[in-house]
Amino acid sequence: MPILANNLAGTINTRIKKLPKSEIRSFNNQISQIPDIVKLTVGEPDLNTPDHIKQAAINDINKDDSHYAPEAGKTEYLNAVSSYLQKSLKVFYDPQNEICATVGVSEALNVSFMAILNPGDKVIVPTPVWGVYFGIIEMAGGIAVQVDTSEDNFILTAEHLSKVMENEGKGAKAIILTDPSNPTGRVYNKNELEKLAQVIVNYNLYALSDEIYAELIYSQKKHYSLTQIIPERTILLSGLSKNFAMTGWRIGYIAGPKEIMQTIIKINSFMITSVTDNVQIGAAEAMAHGEEDYIEARKIYEKRLHIIQTGLEKNGFTMATPEGAFYIFAKIPAKFGCDDVAFAKDLATKAKVGVIPGSYFGQGGQGFVRLSYASSEQNLLTAVQRITDYVNEHLTCN
Ligand code: PMP
Repeated sequence: MPILANNLAGTINTRIKKLPKSEIRSFNNQISQIPDIVKLTVGEPDLNTPDHIKQAAINDINKDDSHYAPEAGKTEYLNAVSSYLQKSLKVFYDPQNEICATVGVSEALNVSFMAILNPGDKVIVPTPVWGVYFGIIEMAGGIAVQVDTSEDNFILTAEHLSKVMENEGKGAKAIILTDPSNPTGRVYNKNELEKLAQVIVNYNLYALSDEIYAELIYSQKKHYSLTQIIPERTILLSGLSKNFAMTGWRIGYIAGPKEIMQTIIKINSFMITSVTDNVQIGAAEAMAHGEEDYIEARKIYEKRLHIIQTGLEKNGFTMATPEGAFYIFAKIPAKFGCDDVAFAKDLATKAKVGVIPGSYFGQGGQGFVRLSYASSEQNLLTAVQRITDYVNEHLTCN
């Protein structure tokens, strides 16, 4: 086993070295050791990839489609993404030069921030938020400016953004919005987006719009996108991990104005050369013929949301009702009088229910916990029962 040369010790990239590891993953690993624990921790669908998508990829492998794909992506996939966006959002992106295939939204975020940020550029990040953004922004040389949205039911208002832009966010280059949100499940309505867009234009920001949960929106609420309002400054990021239960396939896309996409496609090709052939063909099938898959998934998740939300509310937790994604962000009842990390640890140890501390999602998450309901109904019912027993038996979590 090689050991790094003594005189190389301490030479590893200092900026990257000091980035913290994902707290969600470490916490999840830690509590996974507890026997019989029900984990509502990870943001991963428990459903499987639909058969027609798998078959399309298998057929492609059998056709020996195993060469480098074009750097922006395969025509079949880019066309399917373009048609899909036209149908779902009524926006047109030219598959020739305005869309890029990526290795999930994770890589799409890395490439997009690298494309726009110079060292020291600020990025407005409404919190609570998927914490990985912070590491990605720092790796690209940027500085995240957190904006706590907990006072506004986890929606960033135009007034709040204007205030931030006159103070700690002065001179920022971009904003990133997650809609629907991980961890709160909140969804922006048209009016909220229009007002926000006005401020984004006034302060000349790029808008990165992470819409990875767009097809998982419940109860007649509709998805709107910043790209329908300010396409000239929006970089739309999305992928198939959540909507089609394809986390392990690693596939996503970026869509934006041609001028920025040229740079994005250049970075993407330096980073990954191209996305795996058969994955793109499977994904093209999903985008073209997968509507029923996510309609079905949506029904399943909405039923589960009801189970977990009513169970939590009966036990004194409060929350802004999630309207999309598969997370619930619940305020810990005041009686416990401890912070969210202590509470989540205690719940894991004593009740054997795994949830993620809200403070891992940034400033706006303190005092909350995130529960993922991408887990079976049986698991959710067991979790609710265990939480009920725990709340009845414990007055505090110390
Ligand atoms: N954005 C958000 C908001 C997410 O929650 C996740 C996954 N947890 C991602 C991006 C990354 O998704 P992908 O699997 O496409 O890389």
